[in-house]
Amino acid sequence: MALDKLARSPRVQGDSHQITKDTEGAATPGSARHGAEPVTVRTLPSRSSLRFVIVTGLILLQIVTVAGILLFQHLNEQQVLREHMKRTMGGVIHQIKENAQGFLTPAQNVAELSRRLFEAEMISWARRTELERYFIEQLRVIPQLDAVYYGDRHGQFLMVRRERNDGERAYLIKTIEFNAEVRRVEKRWLNQMMGVFERVDEAADTYDPRTRPWYKNALAKKEVVWTDPYVFFTSKQPGITAAVPVFDRQNVVQGVVGVDMEIGKLSDFLGEQNVGQRGAALIINRQGDYVAHSNAPRVSRDMETGQLRLARVDELDDPIEKAAISVFRTPGELLNFAWLNLEDTLHTSIDVEGEEYHAVFRPFPKMSPWPWVIGVYVAETDFIGPFRRGKRNKMIVAIVISAGITLVAFLMARRFMRPVVALRDEVDRDVLTGVHNRRSLFEIAPRLVEQARKSRSPLSVIIVDIDQFKKINDTYGHAVGDQLLTAVATRLRRAVQQEDLFARYAGDEFVLVLPQTEILVASQVGERLCATISETPIKTTSGEISVTVSLGVADLGADSNNFEMIFNEADRALRFAKVNGRNRVAVANTLPTSKAVAVVAR
Ligand code: GH3
Ligand code: MG
Repeated sequence: MALDKLARSPRVQGDSHQITKDTEGAATPGSARHGAEPVTVRTLPSRSSLRFVIVTGLILLQIVTVAGILLFQHLNEQQVLREHMKRTMGGVIHQIKENAQGFLTPAQNVAELSRRLFEAEMISWARRTELERYFIEQLRVIPQLDAVYYGDRHGQFLMVRRERNDGERAYLIKTIEFNAEVRRVEKRWLNQMMGVFERVDEAADTYDPRTRPWYKNALAKKEVVWTDPYVFFTSKQPGITAAVPVFDRQNVVQGVVGVDMEIGKLSDFLGEQNVGQRGAALIINRQGDYVAHSNAPRVSRDMETGQLRLARVDELDDPIEKAAISVFRTPGELLNFAWLNLEDTLHTSIDVEGEEYHAVFRPFPKMSPWPWVIGVYVAETDFIGPFRRGKRNKMIVAIVISAGITLVAFLMARRFMRPVVALRDEVDRDVLTGVHNRRSLFEIAPRLVEQARKSRSPLSVIIVDIDQFKKINDTYGHAVGDQLLTAVATRLRRAVQQEDLFARYAGDEFVLVLPQTEILVASQVGERLCATISETPIKTTSGEISVTVSLGVADLGADSNNFEMIFNEADRALRFAKVNGRNRVAVANTLPTSKAVAVVAR
């Protein structure tokens, strides 16, 4: 409904009466209200603000919970993952050590067993065929053995070597013996069936075991000795030799047993360790030679002579491994592994091209005959990456779950809030007519007045009271009276704008608050409302009944600058309309003084 509201500043006049509390049903604009206590209405949250509070509360609660959990996880994660990584690397090193020991020990066992058998005279140089069988048997049983040999104090020598490159030649047997001072050197190749494939006399061979380091060292130490690893000439594989001296009952040295073993398999084993794409596992001896590496070709190097030797860590051009190993560099830039305590594990973190690497080094234990150091290094992202991805997934799952919980909680809250919202509506609404009730009026109207006052815009109040309603009730009964009340409320509501506040104040009395409306316009609105009611009789169960209303109009002004004041002014005008014949509109600022009204009323 379009109302032509004029933008003129409101005119105000006259004194004001204080608004008073009315009792339910005693809806007289005059005496019943006068002299009673002022109205106080406690403010209730609106329907929309209830929803807002629930939704924002739930969302905030979820955000705080999820953020809290994620933050806690994040703070813990880094430390936990690093600890876990360290432990895993320690585990890898332990495995390498166990495996290497398990791999190397058989050579030592064969050497020591041989010595005991020699000393118990169960094998001897004199029974060379048996000795030869025994050596072959050791090679057959222990695949990593390359050769088993015995050199005696006279320079005689028996060696059985595995031939790896030739199907027909399974074993090479080399014998150097003296028969009546005559030196005979023979090479014999056996096939897999132990049949002789080839036999060669090597008269020119001048090999003397007693001059070899393994023989000399074992003799000097009088116990098992291990050589440093070196690259075997024939197999081109890195290998190592264990040697043990043999004594007779008088403790005189009879000879030395030697066992050669390939250790290329150690590199294969390191290669199987889980060290990520950019990580590596390695074994180095204390001189800085590679013994084994997860990247096997790194261990040996071509020499100018065409032979192979072990590579040294300081010849390396891999920047990551270089950086990892540089923890062993002394101030003079020399590699020195000696300072690493035998029981210690060395952890270090390095940054190579912006990438964080973690390295762990641990020497072989004190009692072990191999003075080597095991190292493992890994790129943090290779290791922690899957956990990070896992974390991201967890985060998404957490957010989805939390959103789900929020939704469910919201639906539940809405379900549980339904009666509360309904109750809230009941508190605000007049049960009979469905329009705002008195409580609601006194909650909203003062705010509208305050807004208008601050923005210096006009605002008017109209009070509508049905004429002679008591009589109607008396004539037709309360039920019909109720029908009339409802019909009047509906007509009035329809006749004003949506933004106007419309409330049942009490009994047969309604109040309209018109924001942005000057008193002149309000009085026109009042006239229209008056006509709307009186023009058409109202249909009831007792037939059509004609009713009229009286209206009092007042507006916001210098002297009436709050709702109560304006209301009292409108009420004064209403009383004027009543005493001046009813079915009419009276405007507060056009009335005679209060006294005059009182006189007229009398
Ligand atoms: P006046 O023209 O001076 O207003 O005369 P009146 O008879 O209308 O007097 P008043 O406004 O004081 O009377 C209001 C009457 O409205 C009193 C009461 O019986 C009646 N009334 C109040 N509430 C209800 C209600 O909910 N239903 C009905 N049917 N009547 C009500
Ligand atoms: Mg009345």
